[in-house]
Amino acid sequence: MGTVVIKFGGSSLSTTDKIKQAAKRIINIKKSGKNVVAVVSAMGKTTDQLLGLAGQITDNPAKREMDMLLATGEQVSISLLTMALTEMGEQAVSLTGWQAGIVTEKVHSNARIVDVKTDHLEEILQEGKIAVAAGFQGVTEDGEITTLGRGGSDTTAVALAAALGAERCSICTDVTGVFTSDPRYVPQARKLSSISYDEMLELANLGAGVLHPRAVEFAKNHNVSLEVRSSVEDEEGTVIEEEVSMEKNLIVRGVAFEDQITRMTVFGLSNEITGLPAIFSTLAANHIDVDIIIQSQIEGGKTNLSFSIKNKDRQEAVQVLEQEKDAIGFEHIECETGLAKVSIVGSGMVSNPGVAAKMFQVLADKNIQIKMVSTSEIKVSAVVDSDCMTEAAQSLHDAFELGVLQSAEK
Ligand code: ADP
Ligand code: ASP
Ligand code: MG
Repeated sequence: MGTVVIKFGGSSLSTTDKIKQAAKRIINIKKSGKNVVAVVSAMGKTTDQLLGLAGQITDNPAKREMDMLLATGEQVSISLLTMALTEMGEQAVSLTGWQAGIVTEKVHSNARIVDVKTDHLEEILQEGKIAVAAGFQGVTEDGEITTLGRGGSDTTAVALAAALGAERCSICTDVTGVFTSDPRYVPQARKLSSISYDEMLELANLGAGVLHPRAVEFAKNHNVSLEVRSSVEDEEGTVIEEEVSMEKNLIVRGVAFEDQITRMTVFGLSNEITGLPAIFSTLAANHIDVDIIIQSQIEGGKTNLSFSIKNKDRQEAVQVLEQEKDAIGFEHIECETGLAKVSIVGSGMVSNPGVAAKMFQVLADKNIQIKMVSTSEIKVSAVVDSDCMTEAAQSLHDAFELGVLQSAEK
């Protein structure tokens, strides 16, 4: 019997009525002759509320305690959904992340899954029961509770699908699929029927919150058949798959954006060959992700180094670098906040040199100043003022005609 993993996000479980609706959907899949593993997020805005509670007590909570707190959100959902399934006459068992066999590295708040021990899950499925697993949480080899980062329930679902050899992993959410941009900000955005793993990975990494980046990475590495669809409507969603040759012509597939960016500048860094590695290994050792990096030479054998990080990491980044100031050898650090990153993504960009030029022209025409730029084979990103983020995204979406079906898709 084939296995299907189906994941419901927080907005699709925000009320007990929605939980009952999710239960009906799960039962329909079970009745079609499949084993079903449901993966669930915390109800509605629960995770934000838990973060708020911690914030009322401390500005600097231990990451271990935050994981302990946030992991409770998903436990509410697994038990209520299991009760709903039972009430509807199905046999179902709820499982925390650790009971579902999700083993992670020992990193709090953003742990990676290192192993999935499926024995217990498989027993439950063999007994003909529905398994309801908590997303977003795992356990280290030495028994510490961890979480996978915001939006991480998607990754739990894909990891379980990969480990169980599931025939499909469906991510059910409050949109009908992956769109050319976030439809909440870009009303002209259009649903894509399919998108390649690589393009989706870039979009997710660049802020398209519809999928957790590591879920896409996991799906690509383990060839999981992944789809994003509505949790309530029956219409076809978006399939994420290996690139099909026809679509390679598409220059820009989507526009992604992300707010809450900080530009950090380290002034007067010594030109010693050890300066750069010292900065970035200090940040990496503290699990701080650095994005765009710009180095500029100044007089007197020194350099200034700017890089972008997420606002949430700013305090810690300054703290750990200041601690190493003498060893690294720099003068001072300045941070510019109130920034956002807007990116265009498409696998056809690699053979179309004018794309970045067009992007910069579109932003210049709107009087939007670009503060930092980065490119890869399939994306161009620009850091702009947060106030301009939505206008920049909408203008790029229009300029690259993403609202209309592109010829390679027809
Ligand atoms: P869930 O609670 O189901 O995990 P999320 O809020 O994490 O839902 O993800 C769904 C949201 O992602 C949508 O409501 C939408 O606003 C946002 N989103 C961002 N980029 C995109 C995109 N390219 N396509 C579709 N939705 C997107
Ligand atoms: N509940 C967690 C969050 O809000 C995980 C998830 O929803 O995927 O980020
Ligand atoms: Mg999500």
